[in-house]
Amino acid sequence: EPASPILTVNNIEVVYDEVIQVLRGVSLDVPEGEIVTLLGPNGAGKSTTLKAISGLLKTENGEVTKGDITFMGERIDSKNAEDVVRSGLFQVMEGRRIIEDMTSLENLKLGAFTRRDSQINQDIDMVYHYFPRLKERTGLAGYLSGGEQQMLAIGRALMARPKMICLDEPSMGLSPLLVKEVFAIIKKINEEQGITMFLVEQNANYALRAANYGYIMESGKVVLDGTQEQLMNNEDVKEFYLGGG
Ligand code: ATP
Repeated sequence: EPASPILTVNNIEVVYDEVIQVLRGVSLDVPEGEIVTLLGPNGAGKSTTLKAISGLLKTENGEVTKGDITFMGERIDSKNAEDVVRSGLFQVMEGRRIIEDMTSLENLKLGAFTRRDSQINQDIDMVYHYFPRLKERTGLAGYLSGGEQQMLAIGRALMARPKMICLDEPSMGLSPLLVKEVFAIIKKINEEQGITMFLVEQNANYALRAANYGYIMESGKVVLDGTQEQLMNNEDVKEFYLGGG
């Protein structure tokens, strides 16, 4: 019996610039406390799905024209990005988007912008527990390596104390060794902090190994979904997404 969904995307359609339809009825559930991955080729609509969830579509003149999105029992499809964060859902964007002319510590503190409590310093220690390298790098974030910037972006998300984190292509631009490390940390955070994770990835191999459940999108629709085991044993998934292995 799977956990009840913390996030439900129900039959959404998304249009950019009022005419370009990119999502054609996308539905998916993310059970609370689990790691779910959304896979698919370039241009399938993965990032658009994430932007619809995180309230970022409006900044690109996109709109959910049909369907609805519910997070923790509350409709979020008409909320702006800041209100979605306040409701407990944090997105780590593609390309990391850390602030390069601030230090790691300053970037981490920015992640706590929605909070008024006094636990912020404790949570910085919690982030350093997962990413000890960030503590050693005291200079400007712009000088961090790609992997360290990805870690900082995830650390900044943790500072918001979210219920759920969405990650857009966390493996992008990282060496295989670093990808492995970042995914292992994502899994550890999920297990230790109970934070639900939604991973959008082109790198199906790593993402499926980390996830409990996966959805595969092509041309604006979900074409297949299943447990980690079901997808890893599916012949089409093996051929087209797992490199024929
Ligand atoms: P990628 O991995 O390349 O980001 P994706 O699966 O995340 O692929 P999207 O980025 O969601 O796919 O793009 C889906 C489709 O929507 C593509 O055809 C893309 O050209 C189009 N699209 C994305 N953003 C916009 C935008 N702001 N305005 C118009 N069309 C867009």
